[in-house]
Amino acid sequence: MATIKLNSGYDMPQVGFGLWKVDNNVCADTVYKAIKAGYRLFDGACDYGNEVEAGQGVARAIKEGIVKREELFIVSKLWNSFHDGDRVEPIAKKQLADWGLEYFDLYLIHFPVALAYVDPSVRYPPGWHYDGKSTIKRSNASIQETWTAMESLVEKGLTKSIGISNFQGQLIYDLLRYAKIRPATLQIEHHPYLVQPELIKLAKHEGIAVTAYSSFGPLSFLEFNMAHASAITPLLEETTITSLAQKYGKKPSQILLRWATQRGLAVIPKTLREENMKSNLDVTGWDLKQEDIDRISALDRNLRFNQPTNYFSTDDLWIFA
Ligand code: NAD
Repeated sequence: MATIKLNSGYDMPQVGFGLWKVDNNVCADTVYKAIKAGYRLFDGACDYGNEVEAGQGVARAIKEGIVKREELFIVSKLWNSFHDGDRVEPIAKKQLADWGLEYFDLYLIHFPVALAYVDPSVRYPPGWHYDGKSTIKRSNASIQETWTAMESLVEKGLTKSIGISNFQGQLIYDLLRYAKIRPATLQIEHHPYLVQPELIKLAKHEGIAVTAYSSFGPLSFLEFNMAHASAITPLLEETTITSLAQKYGKKPSQILLRWATQRGLAVIPKTLREENMKSNLDVTGWDLKQEDIDRISALDRNLRFNQPTNYFSTDDLWIFA
């Protein structure tokens, strides 16, 4: 299994398994099957609402002796509603209890968006809306306040490494001014329609490993009826990608994932199908020619799908805490 050395000293598997939109009724089984297929990294989050079931899949695999806890790399994320400094540790502990774990390998700030606290007894996961319907209520917590609380999770042994997700360059530079512990990873939307070369260069320069999510681009966002996701050619059918798949004797999905891993990024594809689990894992140890990597990068359209405003209306009521 190819790994990436993090600035925290730990090795992170370069290919992992994403848990977004893995339904509760199949999540435990999916995680268990993915471990059997060879996955060691699981990318979870409070917001995915399936951490209990993901933990059950892990527990089963450990109980059956397929894997040991220390061979796994479990990633989770702090949701927006828990950015206030005093909310970070309690929610991280709840998430660990949900997973049935004593520590995370990596815990990320999911979005640089601070929302007002919603008690887990009221609604969990809280989602974007304060009332679960149409009100967006902001918190005044700064990223510095949240990051300081994230650092204390490392000091208390609740997570080995901490990182960020959906951050852009200016905010990363700001965070690096006060960070006692630098972010180990930056998780971003990254596929040939959204390449973000400058952001990746910045992260590399600062020693922050980059994890690419939604590697198949629009495919993951069709179900949200996003017009720009259905209007563009699906990446798995795009002719540059399909002709390279033919050339290398691989699947289009593997070309997309290898394009990322060969450039040093980690990937976390998600699938419920066992044959795809296997092929998505086989995306290191063989190479694309540089000219072919460049051809894929040239598909860039700066087209972002995972935009917060795609999940709520700008007409929603915004209030400050
Ligand atoms: P993805 O690009 O991994 O998968 C999209 C769809 O592609 C899946 O629903 C699956 O049906 C299909 N697919 C997977 N493998 C395939 C194959 N080999 N052939 C054909 N189809 C295939 O999408 P994703 O779930 O958006 O992203 C992956 C993971 O990244 C998520 O599960 C989550 O863990 C993480 N993520 C993080 C954020 C964030 O804000 N940090 C946002 C989105 C996703």
